[in-house]
Amino acid sequence: MADTTPTPGIHHVTCIAGDPQRNLDFWVETLGLRLVKRSINQDDPGTYHFFFADAEGTPGTSMTFFPWEGMGRGKVGSGQVSRTAFRVPEGSLDYWEERFDEYGVAYDERVERFGETVLPFEDPDGLPVELVAVEIPEDDPTVPWTEWVPAEHAIRGFHSVTLWLADPEPTVEVLETMGLERVATEQAQGDTPGDERIRFAASGPVGTYVDVLPTVQSGRQGHGTVHHVAFQTPTDADQQAMRKAVRTLGQRPTRPIDRHWFRSVYFREPGGVLFELATKEPGYTADEPLEDLGGRLVLPGEFEDRREEIEAGLTDIRVPRAEPAEADD
Ligand code: ZN
Repeated sequence: MADTTPTPGIHHVTCIAGDPQRNLDFWVETLGLRLVKRSINQDDPGTYHFFFADAEGTPGTSMTFFPWEGMGRGKVGSGQVSRTAFRVPEGSLDYWEERFDEYGVAYDERVERFGETVLPFEDPDGLPVELVAVEIPEDDPTVPWTEWVPAEHAIRGFHSVTLWLADPEPTVEVLETMGLERVATEQAQGDTPGDERIRFAASGPVGTYVDVLPTVQSGRQGHGTVHHVAFQTPTDADQQAMRKAVRTLGQRPTRPIDRHWFRSVYFREPGGVLFELATKEPGYTADEPLEDLGGRLVLPGEFEDRREEIEAGLTDIRVPRAEPAEADD
């Protein structure tokens, strides 16, 4: 632990969706995130991989999806990220409720959690999502994307993930080894009432929190569930040190894998959740200039040689545009 840099927080969260167009429409138009990368699943190149983030793809802001149309509806349960929460500026939840009414998005009653107000809702695949109203500091690293939602209400990266676990203790040990600190405990409400919610905090300002909730409810991967959560290990040295640290707990992390926009190490923590450690570099501007992010299908490495074949196998999609623009693709 001594020579491990604590993680600054969540890097990205990757989820499973159904119809790619419906996924795009919701995350780009309804929620107002920027499509910063339109690519394919590097392990399953016949399917898309979408990355939605803030205006600059800042670490701690990207929600990514595998639209796997052939898969069925999943079920949230133990061994999963059960809720993914985003930060929105204080005072903007009225705006979001009005927007959800306008777009026909079902949402739940607001709940108070650790002194903050939380607005729970689901995406079209049934993925549980939350907006948490927080004060956004002047020097916040995130940059609002304002094509669909004005800056004063825009989503500003992750607030937290909640893990549902049959037995939280071994997972807690992993989180603490990664440098997260236990900061608060509260009676859970709105998800599994009666249980204790334990909050852990990372060192950075975005994607700071991981909440842990015990549950016996079992889950099933599929549409509307989280595939994995990635934590920031900004440099390769940070990643190596963190990899070593989790190995001392008996975890079996992979070697670093080149994911083109970051380098990744994966391990399934003892509670069953797939964790990733992701570097900051090279970032989403590695293959497209900032102003063009998400504008075309990007095929990393050797996949570019198979572009024609890959494009032919993908469902046609249209990225929602707020202003009339030239035809997409
Ligand atoms: Zn990932």
